[in-house]
Amino acid sequence: MTGRALRLAIFGVVQGVGFRPFIFRQAREYGFRGWVKNAGRGVEIHVESSGRPDFEAFISAVKRRHPPLARIESVTSRPAAFRSYREFTVRKSRTGKRFVFISPDIATCPACLRDILDPKDRRFRYPFTNCTDCGPRYTIVRSLPYDRPRTTMAGFPMCPDCAAEYGDPLDRRYHAQPVACPDCGPAVALREAKSGRPIEGGIQRAADLLAAGKILAVKGLGGFHLACDPFNPAAIARLRKMKDRRTKPLALMARDIDVVDRWAWISPAEKRALISERRPIVLLKKRKDIPGIAPNLSEIGFMLPYTPLHHLLLENLGLIVATSSNLRDAPIIKEDDPALASLCDAVLTHDRPIEMRADDSVVKIVDGRPLFVRRARGYVPYPQKVPEGMISKRPILALGGELKDTVSIYKNGYVVTSQFLGDLDEYENRAYLEETVSHLTRLFEAEPALVVSDLHPDFHSTRIARSLGLPHIQVQHHHAHILAVMLEHGLPPGSKVLGISWDGYGYGSDGEAWGGEFLITDYRSFERFAFFEPARLPGGDLAARQPWRMALSYLYKAGFTLEQALQTDTLNRIDRAAAKSIWAMIERGIRSPLSSSCGRLFDAVSALAGLAPSTNEYEAEAAMRLESIASAQKAAPYRTRIGKSGPSYAISFDGAIRSIVEDLGRGTAPQRVSAKFHATLADAAVRIARRARDDRGIRTVAIGGGVFLNAVLLSRLSALLRKEGFRVLRPELYSPNDEAISLGQIAHALAVRGT
Ligand code: ZN
Ligand code: ZN
Ligand code: FE
Repeated sequence: MTGRALRLAIFGVVQGVGFRPFIFRQAREYGFRGWVKNAGRGVEIHVESSGRPDFEAFISAVKRRHPPLARIESVTSRPAAFRSYREFTVRKSRTGKRFVFISPDIATCPACLRDILDPKDRRFRYPFTNCTDCGPRYTIVRSLPYDRPRTTMAGFPMCPDCAAEYGDPLDRRYHAQPVACPDCGPAVALREAKSGRPIEGGIQRAADLLAAGKILAVKGLGGFHLACDPFNPAAIARLRKMKDRRTKPLALMARDIDVVDRWAWISPAEKRALISERRPIVLLKKRKDIPGIAPNLSEIGFMLPYTPLHHLLLENLGLIVATSSNLRDAPIIKEDDPALASLCDAVLTHDRPIEMRADDSVVKIVDGRPLFVRRARGYVPYPQKVPEGMISKRPILALGGELKDTVSIYKNGYVVTSQFLGDLDEYENRAYLEETVSHLTRLFEAEPALVVSDLHPDFHSTRIARSLGLPHIQVQHHHAHILAVMLEHGLPPGSKVLGISWDGYGYGSDGEAWGGEFLITDYRSFERFAFFEPARLPGGDLAARQPWRMALSYLYKAGFTLEQALQTDTLNRIDRAAAKSIWAMIERGIRSPLSSSCGRLFDAVSALAGLAPSTNEYEAEAAMRLESIASAQKAAPYRTRIGKSGPSYAISFDGAIRSIVEDLGRGTAPQRVSAKFHATLADAAVRIARRARDDRGIRTVAIGGGVFLNAVLLSRLSALLRKEGFRVLRPELYSPNDEAISLGQIAHALAVRGT
């Protein structure tokens, strides 16, 4: 028999996402024979048929109908020899020196949700139901190839029914590694937190306990949540006490979008994010406040259920608090840890182990596009493609910065950035970092030939990098912020941009504290084109925690005397003796290093406006309060002065500070002052951008750094820059904060080390 044959190579995220069984079904539909197998960075397909096969229609069906988790980057085809295969088969995978994609954890799909709600289905009310299109992935994989024995499902041999589904290429559960049912899979257990005594009644009883005001630890995909009734003030107060958090916002999980709609305003883009299969927490504008959940802020975080267990738990509750279970600043708890007992009344757990922790991701929508506040579950380990011309053969490991850290691993043209790991000044987070590095290097079979860290000599990430015994390079912090944005947007090597890199703190190339930076940069190097005139940080690190210290410092810088400073409405409340000694420190420069930090300027203005807490409980609390109240009407900027400092421009906000004090003194509403302050920053940035264009011909601006989690500022600045004709790049797939540092470090390493 003769016929025609075609060989196809498909690249993209096509492994571990049900792609091969999908090809199998398509090939059968078209009556083709041959095979499909995983190969290199994609899959290889051989299709053949006697007669005049319509290969074109087959290819377009593959492109159009592929499984939801697959991402096709390219399809190439060439005629092949006809081999007279008798059937179409899925060939077994083997591992090699390639880059293998692993799917993030994916929320329960509609088909599985129907299964658990169908009394006739054998998975009726089974909390671990999943299929090829949904379920746990990253958090359960131990090593590759991605097969059940190498996941935390290893301890659950499949029953004959599950095995039949698993082995049937036409079944939705074909090769779904975590497939399970009540007969063979994991089971939930409910017990008292302190005594460990079992409580009868499972998920239903857990829901009753929540309704009765109890605090529960609930095991999810990447760790435990702490849950309670958001409308029970006593429960909220207890939860806050246990977590040692008085004001940090708590996330909510709602049964469905209608419940969310009652409490928050939802735009179409926000709705898409809420219901997406990645199920992040989405920050939404409050419609009606729920006291104690997100105090002093205008936004509140909601997510929808993402496992069958959550769906069942919320069936009769509607809305719960679902915040990550950790002691202050420590990593999310993933095991039935004794630490849990001190955080809750009861534990709803199960016996499927969590291999890798992952917090919930948090996004907000700015100008219709996502902005990550935290990138973890549902997104990690989705890979980032490296621009052509930057591909290196050798794997690279980047360890990031210090706060809100992540690590990134480069291999064969792709970078995988880890989930948010937390602040490395906590010992437990350093252990978490090491756990994650070893997990990712094992998973992606990457043996790093080079390690990258921040320029800061004393950051833990730098110390860990030094201890690895590998070639080591360091990247300046604000440079890395911008490089992450350039890499995300695929800018080719040689591209030059103006990077607006604003955050709380980064170690400058001159050893000073930086944070209000304008860098003309390419992947290899940068030039400090402009910066904020530095102010003193009285007490060093303490200045970053107590915003009123920065208010004093900025008043001093703007030419106020101590007496004048203390006459301002908000500062006359602080202790006179404390103010006096801080003022003396500033005057004499004692334990008061200089810093160009934009974050500290926000602290100062927030304190002047009477919004800042006396001590920030969480990073950027004062700044978030200031953003929160900014009135929506257009506001004119305060005056700023651009001068020269050596070869760079330096922006002075002294005039703005004086005007802010005047405005507040004559009773201007803080809402208005906040709006004008935001306008001031945007205006100053645009004026610097014009100079970069006029002096250097720069046409592209890349925006990065934690300050740009501020949606009011980001949105306004982007609009102004676009109006001036600039191409504006900002983070959409990664957070603008220090979570992006490790990605930027990889970009620099690739550029300077080449192949
Ligand atoms: Zn499913
Ligand atoms: Zn089973
Ligand atoms: Fe930073």
